[in-house]
Amino acid sequence: MVLALALKAELDGVTELRPSDTADTPFFYTFRVQCTSCRETHPNDVSFSRFDQTEVSGSKGEANFVWRCKNCKREHSASIKAAPTAYQQSDPPKMLTMLEFDCRGLEFTEFKAEGDFEAKGTDTATSFTAIDLTDGEWFDYDEKAGQQVSITGVQWEIRRA
Ligand SMILES: [Zn+2]
Repeated sequence: MVLALALKAELDGVTELRPSDTADTPFFYTFRVQCTSCRETHPNDVSFSRFDQTEVSGSKGEANFVWRCKNCKREHSASIKAAPTAYQQSDPPKMLTMLEFDCRGLEFTEFKAEGDFEAKGTDTATSFTAIDLTDGEWFDYDEKAGQQVSITGVQWEIRRA
């Protein structure tokens, strides 16, 4: 099953919002995860990066995230398909896919936006880093544009791709 993580947010003065996610400084994506065999939800949030590879039992290759469900004892895995797509500013804001996952036997049910995001000034290309979206909003000032910039109304959605 392919799942997509989608974002909708109001961007004012910034665009190209994305997780800071490179091989040197990987982003750790944090989720609530559920077993699709027995519907058990993992007691803790899980996080993994797209640069981590863990072996799947029985020579089934590798995945970014491997989880053995404590309830039904089955092993499940998930992998991020590609680098995240930057979210573009639009008015009104659109729900856009940022990331896609190949999921085997598990489903992500909730995304926790922990980690650093980055964006660019819409007209100035000013680079903003270490953007924290855990509160669902962010405010800063673009010196080049001489105006306040913000990200508000952050909504994450996990859906079937
Ligand atoms: Zn299970």
